[in-house]
Amino acid sequence: MIKRVQTKQIFVGSVAVGGDAPISVQSMTFSKTSDIETTVEQIKRLHFAGCDIVRVAVPEMEDALALKSIKEQISLPLIADIHFNHRLALVAAEVVDCIRINPGNIGSKERVKEVVKACQARNIPIRIGVNAGSLEKEFLNKYGQTSEGMVASAEYNIKFLEDLGFDDIKISLKASDVQRTVDAYRMLRPKNSYPFHLGVTEAGTLFHATVKSSIGLGALLLDGIGDTMRVSITGELEEEINVARAILKDSGAAKDGLNIISCPTCGRIEADLVTAVGEIERRTSHIKAPLNVSVMGCVVNAIGEAAHADVAIAYGKGKGLVMVKGEVVANLDESELVDRFVDEVEKMAKEKE
Ligand code: SF4
Repeated sequence: MIKRVQTKQIFVGSVAVGGDAPISVQSMTFSKTSDIETTVEQIKRLHFAGCDIVRVAVPEMEDALALKSIKEQISLPLIADIHFNHRLALVAAEVVDCIRINPGNIGSKERVKEVVKACQARNIPIRIGVNAGSLEKEFLNKYGQTSEGMVASAEYNIKFLEDLGFDDIKISLKASDVQRTVDAYRMLRPKNSYPFHLGVTEAGTLFHATVKSSIGLGALLLDGIGDTMRVSITGELEEEINVARAILKDSGAAKDGLNIISCPTCGRIEADLVTAVGEIERRTSHIKAPLNVSVMGCVVNAIGEAAHADVAIAYGKGKGLVMVKGEVVANLDESELVDRFVDEVEKMAKEKE
């Protein structure tokens, strides 16, 4: 496991962020928050996919007023994402588990003070969400949209909140390109011990967002930086969670979930492995138990991989073996293999969870 930089621990609802808490995965709904039914449905989908904390956009008063009913129908901690209008933050702070403000666009310091007071009253944290695209004028004029400008903005706003006696803080420093994002987090990390929310913003569709986030978040995680994170994807809700969990697992920052070993296939293959692995990924994405599984196209490497796997499939011609801890438990037609494999994985996950 990587060695994480020690940070202060805060709580977003029941989820600890920072300190020795596992790195949590966040996402956002894309419904109008005022559409309570759709928003709740999206939050439940995210929860099932393995999301730890959910954020909703609050651009209008009707969105802020919908938060109470949403909160009553979900069990994930809820963050309100506020830009431009501090009055929305004041309404949201009465209900949610954390407020995210962008100090560059929330208005005068008097307004920020009011938001801080409201959060203090309910003992909920604030995320200072610095974004390269919306820095305060003074930092924009001095540094431009650079990582230096993002760090200067974060430091200024941290001090502003600290001077008000508020230190229930987490910080994000997002830019739409990897280099500025990584530089900013690396620059700010030695200067305080507040937990960091990682993300590369507006990262694009599934393919590009996965590449950008894997490089950016992966580099930071390998440095031990990061306490909670979001992978931003223009796409389906579950994709953000799946990619985030994969980054955590493959960087060594988390052990939870399935580590799926599958062969690239070659001319020896006599089965539709691509479809099978896709289905396995989909049907096991909610599993948090740390399991190693292998899905191999033929016996050349299958038995060797299966020896190290908790559950494995070795495909043959129209048939295949399901193995548990290296022992064959079933010899089935190809059409039955994935079902049996998933059953075995779920059984083992239940024993471990
Ligand atoms: Fe080819 Fe078999 Fe290796 Fe898969 S396991 S790449 S099918 S030799």
